[in-house]
Amino acid sequence: MNILRNNLDKVIARIEKARIAYSRHHIIKLIAVSKYSEINDIAEMYSCGQRAFGENKVQDLKNKSEALHHLPIEWHMIGVLQENKINTLLGLKPTLVHSISSIKLAKAIQKRCESMQTSLRGLLQVNASYEDTKSGVMPQEAKDIYIEILQNCPNIRLEGVMSIGANSTDTKAIQSSFKLTKDVFDSLQSYGAKTLSMGMSGDFEIAISYGANMLRIGSVLFNKE
Ligand SMILES: *Cc1c(COP(=O)(O)O)cnc(C)c1O
Repeated sequence: MNILRNNLDKVIARIEKARIAYSRHHIIKLIAVSKYSEINDIAEMYSCGQRAFGENKVQDLKNKSEALHHLPIEWHMIGVLQENKINTLLGLKPTLVHSISSIKLAKAIQKRCESMQTSLRGLLQVNASYEDTKSGVMPQEAKDIYIEILQNCPNIRLEGVMSIGANSTDTKAIQSSFKLTKDVFDSLQSYGAKTLSMGMSGDFEIAISYGANMLRIGSVLFNKE
């Protein structure tokens, strides 16, 4: 039996069920988070039809995308981005950076984009669970910061927001962090926000019920036990 194919089929079936319960007109994109996975498993997931993969470290994104350069994979950067890694990241031409987590980081990215004459697609990360260990802007300041980036960082193509659900076993806490993020997303509709990236292995169905249209799922896809 092909374990990874089976994992993918199961996850897609679960996404479909939650998606249809939310709305038949809702389209969802799945990012397979490959941060704990080896090249072979990523290639196998690709052969099952998965095209978008996410990494949380620039160095891993570099190593894996170079090793798999023969495949037309979309690479997403989803983890904390250090300013000294921006040049390397830009050189890798990622499809989307989910983790623009402050105005300071956005300005640093803008500067490097200008000097490298390139642009970058990105999402503003919102810390909707108010956890100190998480990056991101506070929900109540997110709209202003989003607009500030739009106005001051023309080389960053902001397309929406990203959030990590509350790290909790309490469904209510998870729901409230997704609801806050969805409210921020809705408030940015007239500013062109179209991507709402939220939902991981443990909470993606809840995220879908709050309108997530991009999921970042790792362990349940790649787990081989
Ligand atoms: C690791 C990671 C994920 C995926 O987590 P799983 O629980 O393994 O699905 C999603 N988003 C971010 C930012 C991550 O670092």
